[in-house]
Amino acid sequence: MMLTMSVFLFGCAHNAKENDVESFITAHVEKIRPMEKEAALASWNAAISGKPEDYDKVSELTLKVRQVYSNPQEFAFLKDVKESGQVRNAILARQLDVLYNSYLETQIEPELLKKIIDLGTEIEKNFSTFRGTIEGKKVTDNEIKEILKTQTDSRKRSQAWLASKQVGAIVADDIIRLVKLRNQAARKLGFDNYHTLSLATAEQDVKELDKIFDELYELTNEPFAKLKADLDSILAAKYDVAVTELMPWHYHDPFFQETPMVYDLDLDAYYEDKDVKELATEFYAGIGLAVESILANSDLYEREGKNPHAFCTDIDREGDVRILCNLKNNESWMETILHELGHAVYDKYHEPQVPYLLREPAHIFTTEAIAMFFGRLSRNPAWMQQMLELSDEQRMEVEKVSGKYAQLKQLIFARWDMVMYNFEKQLYANPEQDLNSLWWQMVEKYQLVKRPQGRNEPDWAAKIHFTIAPCYYHNYMLGELLASQLHHHIVHEILKLESDENVSYIGRRELGEFLRESVFEAGAVYHWNEMIKRATGEPLSPNYFVDQFVNR
Ligand SMILES: [Zn+2]
Repeated sequence: MMLTMSVFLFGCAHNAKENDVESFITAHVEKIRPMEKEAALASWNAAISGKPEDYDKVSELTLKVRQVYSNPQEFAFLKDVKESGQVRNAILARQLDVLYNSYLETQIEPELLKKIIDLGTEIEKNFSTFRGTIEGKKVTDNEIKEILKTQTDSRKRSQAWLASKQVGAIVADDIIRLVKLRNQAARKLGFDNYHTLSLATAEQDVKELDKIFDELYELTNEPFAKLKADLDSILAAKYDVAVTELMPWHYHDPFFQETPMVYDLDLDAYYEDKDVKELATEFYAGIGLAVESILANSDLYEREGKNPHAFCTDIDREGDVRILCNLKNNESWMETILHELGHAVYDKYHEPQVPYLLREPAHIFTTEAIAMFFGRLSRNPAWMQQMLELSDEQRMEVEKVSGKYAQLKQLIFARWDMVMYNFEKQLYANPEQDLNSLWWQMVEKYQLVKRPQGRNEPDWAAKIHFTIAPCYYHNYMLGELLASQLHHHIVHEILKLESDENVSYIGRRELGEFLRESVFEAGAVYHWNEMIKRATGEPLSPNYFVDQFVNR
């Protein structure tokens, strides 16, 4: 453990308010700790069994935890001590902040909360049961995606795209009602709207985020325009239309959030006769982060009824960290297992002396950043060559397109995330405005995609995230930015290299050591931006992302 943190953890004598807070925390942790562990285990069991009764147990236990945090008297106590300004001991103040935020977001009065949850569930159900139609025939989301990936006939593409937006008209009014209900709840808690409440409880500041997103916008404007012009000319040729005639349906997914597959890059072939689990274990061992104990508790392969996705969970904040995967030996699962193990080592290596309430990542996006940092390696030519024993020719094959592809992928996502962040901010600020137009203004401004002439439909509402994961999307971008900032710092300051060319990180124990000491151990002892400053010498900045993916 770092010396600075030891000093931080063991402060001096407490005043009366501090003693009160300390007693509160002790009692709270004693109560919440077994409940959280039980809920985490139940959720794990449900994910691997898929049984409805297991999911019922999860809901029941989650509700029980929630009830603890919704206690109004306890919240009043926390608010009072927080506002008194008397809690000066840093580690107590930090726990107080974390507790206060957890209580704050659950202070919505039960009746209103029920309305919000019920309406959210209703909309989600509509999303999962609604099927768009093409010429009167129902189509699934997968069929729509397939058409947008492969079809060359513009008319058929436009039909598929339109079908993907039909759900918007079904759910839009309900989403607006949901936004208003959420705003109502936020105002009762003293916030302008739900967006500002959400950011506040996540320890994020609108001005700070605006600044980061504005900078990113400026820095990516020109390069994105150029890259998109290249892409457009390829697409126009492929679909036999003029560049000026390209419409939203000429991109390869309904929102132009993914990279159209126009540069041939099939990395699966390099992974098919390898074992991605073995590769990941070996790689992490080489940088000094042991993942065997994590993998021993994990559930890695496909099974009937099991959750088909991937996630990482910290069961007890005592080292029982698990990942769920459905591994196959291909590039995408290589990325996924590296990603999930990134989350897992962050959780595993929290310093045990850090108080329970702070034994978690500094922020949801900082753990995402670590996961992304490692996940990116599955396409890194230097990493692939060494791990997969590729010949120089094979490596050159990968190199020819992987850099271009990474750049395209990151820039397209960045511009799309700007749409989501800025639209959502305005959605909550004024849900009465002309949202259909607002959406297309954003899409035109950030993604440089044209609004179809005369189009006035709630195309924004077809994005499920406004319903199920409100005010969260910006965290994906912040994670990418931090992953690049860490990469830059590690290459130049830890490995002392001139550039990141040929950096594979394989066998670099300094990497594991740095991450453990500067990021993982402290958990949430520091506010996320303080942690980033301490680790890299400056607060979160978009410059390194731009460095890595734009100015190449
Ligand atoms: Zn993740």
